[in-house]
Amino acid sequence: MTRRTEIRGIARDTLHFILEASRSSHPLEFIGLLRPYEDVIAEVLLIPGSEASDHSATLRFDMVPLTAGAVGTVHSHPSPTPLPSQEDLFFFSRHGHLHIIAAYPYTEASWRCYDGAGHERALAVLDIELPDDYLGDDDPWAEEGEA
Ligand code: ZN
Repeated sequence: MTRRTEIRGIARDTLHFILEASRSSHPLEFIGLLRPYEDVIAEVLLIPGSEASDHSATLRFDMVPLTAGAVGTVHSHPSPTPLPSQEDLFFFSRHGHLHIIAAYPYTEASWRCYDGAGHERALAVLDIELPDDYLGDDDPWAEEGEA
C-alpha cells in the first residue's frame, strides 16, 4: 500500500508552481500533496477544504485519499522561516516521507525539504520535460492491482 519510491528530485516547473501558488496565497498558507511521475515530484494536488490562516495550516486528509500516489506534502510559510513548527513535525511524521516548506519570499532559495522525522534532506531541482499526456490513459496515479 505504501510503495516507497526513491524520489530523485522535483521538476523545476512543479517547484515554480509551488512558489507561484504560495505567492498568490500570501499572507495565507498554501498547502497540498506531492505526487510523483515515476521518481520525480511532478504534481501538486491542492486539498479542498484546507483551512489556512496566517499562522497555521491544516491539511484535511479526510477529504483526500492519501493512497492517490502522494509521497508527501507541501505548505508555505508567510514568514521568512522555512523551519518546521512543532505542529509541522507532528504532521510530517504522519503523512509521508518528503515535505516541502516554501517560505516567504517564495524563491528558489527560500524553500526547504524535510523527511518524515523533520530532518532537512536534499531534493534536486530537475530540468526535465514531462510527457504532455502523462495523466492520460496510463494515469500513473490509478490504483494498482485491481485489474
Ligand atoms: Zn509550517
